[in-house]
Amino acid sequence: MTDQKIRIATASLAGCFGCHMSFLDIDEKLVQLNERIEFNRSPLTDIKHCGPSDIGLIEGGVCNADNVRVLREFRANCKVLIAVGACAINGGVPAMRNYFDLRECLEEVYLHGTGVTNPQIPDDAELPLLLDKVYPVQEVVRIDYFLPGCPPPADAFLQMLMPLLDGKAPHIANNQLHYD
Ligand code: SF4
Repeated sequence: MTDQKIRIATASLAGCFGCHMSFLDIDEKLVQLNERIEFNRSPLTDIKHCGPSDIGLIEGGVCNADNVRVLREFRANCKVLIAVGACAINGGVPAMRNYFDLRECLEEVYLHGTGVTNPQIPDDAELPLLLDKVYPVQEVVRIDYFLPGCPPPADAFLQMLMPLLDGKAPHIANNQLHYD
C-alpha cells in the first residue's frame, strides 16, 4: 500500500443532503478516515468539477438536466461509483412526482398554488430543465455498488468504504441494511 491518499468525490443530485449528513455521522471516525482519503469535488469542498477519483458517492436521483451532466462527469472520472440512499437507488420520495404530469406539477406550484402572487413558470435559460420523471441513477450510468437506506446508517458508510480503501469488496452487515 502506498502513502497516496484515496480520492473520494461526492455529489447530491435530487437528494436532500440527508445522506451526506449520515456520512458525517461517523463523527470522530472522520478524522481517522481523513488520514487515508482526500475529498475531490463534494459539497464538503470548493472543487467545482469532479476530477480523477477512486470512489464517487452519489446521493439523490436524477430529476433535471444538470443532474445528468454531474452524474456523467462522476462516471467518467470515478473508478468506483456508489449509489447512496433510496433516492439514488430507486428515485426515493421525490419519485412520487412520477405519478403526476410534469406540466400539472409546475402549474400547481407556480400558477395556482397557495400564496402565489406573481404567477409564472420560471423559464430563465440558466435554470436546468426538469426531466419528465425522476430516475434512479443506474438508469443513466453504470453503478458499481448500492448502499440502501434513507439515509444509510453512518456505520454502513464505513463498512462500504473501509474495504474499498484496501482494494477489497465491501460487506455491509445485515443490521446495517435497511430501506427506510
Ligand atoms: S435517501 Fe433519504 S436521506 Fe438520502 S437524499 Fe434521499 S431523502 Fe435524503
